[in-house]
Amino acid sequence: MTSHTPITSQRVPRAYRGAILHALSQNELAYFADGLLVVDSEGLVVACGPWAELKDTLHGVAITQCEPHQLIVPGFVDTHVHLPQMAVAGCQAPSLLEWLDTHIFAEEARFADADYARTVSEWFLTELLANGTTLANVFLTSHPGASQIAFETAARLGNRVIMGQTLMDRQAPDSLLRPADQLLRETESLCRQWHGANGGRIQYAWVPRFALTSSEELMSGLGELRRQHPTVYLHTHLSEQLGEIAVVKAQFPWATDYTQVYERFGLLGSRTILAHGIHLCDDELVRLKGLDASLAHCPSSNFFLKSGRFRLMDVLRRQLRLGLGSDVGAGPELFLLTVMKDAQYMQSDTLVPLATLFYLATLGGAEALHQGHRLGNFESGKEADFVVLDLPATPVSLYKSPVQSPGDSEALLSRLVYQGHQHWISETYIRGQRVYQRAAIVQD
Ligand SMILES: [Zn+2]
Repeated sequence: MTSHTPITSQRVPRAYRGAILHALSQNELAYFADGLLVVDSEGLVVACGPWAELKDTLHGVAITQCEPHQLIVPGFVDTHVHLPQMAVAGCQAPSLLEWLDTHIFAEEARFADADYARTVSEWFLTELLANGTTLANVFLTSHPGASQIAFETAARLGNRVIMGQTLMDRQAPDSLLRPADQLLRETESLCRQWHGANGGRIQYAWVPRFALTSSEELMSGLGELRRQHPTVYLHTHLSEQLGEIAVVKAQFPWATDYTQVYERFGLLGSRTILAHGIHLCDDELVRLKGLDASLAHCPSSNFFLKSGRFRLMDVLRRQLRLGLGSDVGAGPELFLLTVMKDAQYMQSDTLVPLATLFYLATLGGAEALHQGHRLGNFESGKEADFVVLDLPATPVSLYKSPVQSPGDSEALLSRLVYQGHQHWISETYIRGQRVYQRAAIVQD
């Protein structure tokens, strides 16, 4: 049983003592079996390291002692997810385009009803916190009213999100379409109200669904908005399925490839996040790297819709900005540890280093969303976004060991990736404030 706990206002420094694991880079972890995370009154990390080294630096700081079976990790970063698809997650269809027609468009049309939009927004945003996700890059629907409700709900619950009204002006049911000029006015108005809101926890993104639902007028208007608002994100899909790519080629015959459609209208650059990118050719990857665009790898969704195999190791070697995405509702669940596991299983001929998977779900995701300078791990000065996990008892309780050794963290991380469960999330903190606490199970 879970419930949302109101934000507790932290106005005093606090330290958390327990096992701590965080990523320093793509290949490097820091693990402290008996560690200390010190957070100041503004919610910023003061220090993170072994208890034995830091204990004498604490003067008048309240200490929260974690249980021996608990582990502190940075909050998870979901670089691609759809709020209005919560209720239809796990509904199967033979292909992406048929899945959209069968399940998704009808569900998104329900968000014309403000009460429904409010109910699902609260459910989705609470579930993000219950899954330990402290930063998410979120598609909304094409309704400005429902988008407004989603932003208001995120501000009230304390979520850290990048969100935007989903923009479609063709090739979807009429109830979800609007003229391009109207969409451009609506989305700019929402952006002016919400970009940077709630102390910077809320950021705005221009969100054309994908090339097939976007007219050239809409994409060119968005290119102009990107130039006018350089700190606003652009979030869309790219190259997910072969059938989709064939239709894109037919509709944009002047384009040499899918990437060029967005490129021509000025939609690609820093702060552009592209979901999937499964069937990109080498030249597209080179251009995306040169433009500093980010990719969101969503393996659970790719398995579900049988979209294909993402070139994870190749993209890592090319050093593109890259994070993991749950892609709910094509991905069945929000929990990023499951997405890490699916990313591993998708690379059937290569063992992805566990440290790399953990990095992608935390610091790498933050860097892909251009927020790595202020969150993603426990470097001093960063905002203290973290999760307290309850690890179930095992015969070998590695995390109880007072001895710090590399083998401990590797075995611990392996258990997290292959056995991690959403019910392990005990508490979630954003900027030092507790935004979620699992309710105690009441037994009769
Ligand atoms: Zn998606």
